[in-house]
Amino acid sequence: MAKRTQEERNSGFYAETAERMGRSDRTAFKERDSLKAFHYAYEKAPGYKKFLEGRGVDPGAVKNIDDFSKLPVLKKNMMPERHQNNPPFGGFLAVPVEKLKRIYVSPGPIYDPEGRKEDYWGLRKCLYNAGFRPGDIVMNTFSYHLTPAGIFLDEACNGIGCVTVPTGVGNTEIQAKTMAGLKINGYIGVPSFLMSLIKKMEELGHDTAKGLSMEIALVAGEILSPSLRKGLNDYGIIVRQAYITAELGGVAYECPQENGMHISDDLYIEICDPVTGEPLPAGSIGEVVVTDFSNECYPLVRYGTGDLSVLDEGECLCGRTSYKLKGIMGRADEVTKIKGMFVHPRQIDEAAAKFSGEIEKIRVVVTRSGVTDMMTVEIQLKHGVAGTDTLKTAIDEKIRESTKLRGNTVFVAEIPEGSKKIEDKRKWD
Ligand SMILES: [Zn+2]
Repeated sequence: MAKRTQEERNSGFYAETAERMGRSDRTAFKERDSLKAFHYAYEKAPGYKKFLEGRGVDPGAVKNIDDFSKLPVLKKNMMPERHQNNPPFGGFLAVPVEKLKRIYVSPGPIYDPEGRKEDYWGLRKCLYNAGFRPGDIVMNTFSYHLTPAGIFLDEACNGIGCVTVPTGVGNTEIQAKTMAGLKINGYIGVPSFLMSLIKKMEELGHDTAKGLSMEIALVAGEILSPSLRKGLNDYGIIVRQAYITAELGGVAYECPQENGMHISDDLYIEICDPVTGEPLPAGSIGEVVVTDFSNECYPLVRYGTGDLSVLDEGECLCGRTSYKLKGIMGRADEVTKIKGMFVHPRQIDEAAAKFSGEIEKIRVVVTRSGVTDMMTVEIQLKHGVAGTDTLKTAIDEKIRESTKLRGNTVFVAEIPEGSKKIEDKRKWD
């Protein structure tokens, strides 16, 4: 099969009308469907009804999107317990079990039901809009058992006309040989494993400088660092990320702009305070809270994924109008609230990465002066690097960019071994 040009892979829409819906139509549709999803879940899923009743919610009083945003967040980390207390689905299944197509076992343990609707997990658009095209021969390296990822993506590949080679996890040498032997041009899996496969091919004597058959990769389940993306791009591979979860399927995907992940058109996403569940202003880091408009088997409303992200409401040059998530920035239980803003260790690392030649170690120490939080950024410099005022100002600046907070950079001789990236020394008594 002839190679596809990057232009071919970067143009076109999977479902143009939905993806380019006007912003005001989109808002109206989201509001209407969120309320519909809420009332459906309340009526059909006894576990959800019980959850709301336990929190004194009167469903009749939920009339508009403001009421909706005050509904309690159903936390993902509480689901295993709910499932165990009322097996097997915690009362969240809204159809008889015999209507299902599959039941996935995920860590927890938790059972994730799948209905019979075509493209149930909404992953076809993720693949297509990421750049996969009919006829691609795709190696799917996600596991096919005891986790849904393998089958999710396998079905989606077939749904858009790709050929799948289900290889699952591990067996690097066999996989590298398969990649060469079948002239595989598509990859699905974690990004680091793709690089391992290429290195293994080189070890086995393949001259990758002459060009790989591999053209397109959809990666998920692991942070894609800019350097790894660049390394894979250098082999001629387009690398796009997706945010996929076991109970929601395709939540968001990267478009050719590679600058954030577009939210699926059939989901409503709020970025919320992980503690109170209140929606946060655009641009803040917070928990991804999802409402699924179209899952009639297992309706999820204001479902707290525990993942952290930032919402980008800007317009994307690709023409899609859905908001974007600026990557997944860690877990909600790892954040620290400083001056009312959530800060994740990764934001600190992000700032430090800009000074890889100067900074040996970094940590943020949070203290309190009266009622005010103080953020001190401790820097242990690399041997021979001078702690100048210019460097201090530059670090302050990058910390402010990544955390939206003003800190005070100090150079220290040594940051103690094993200390946390964000050391919270505030006393609350
Ligand atoms: Zn876009």
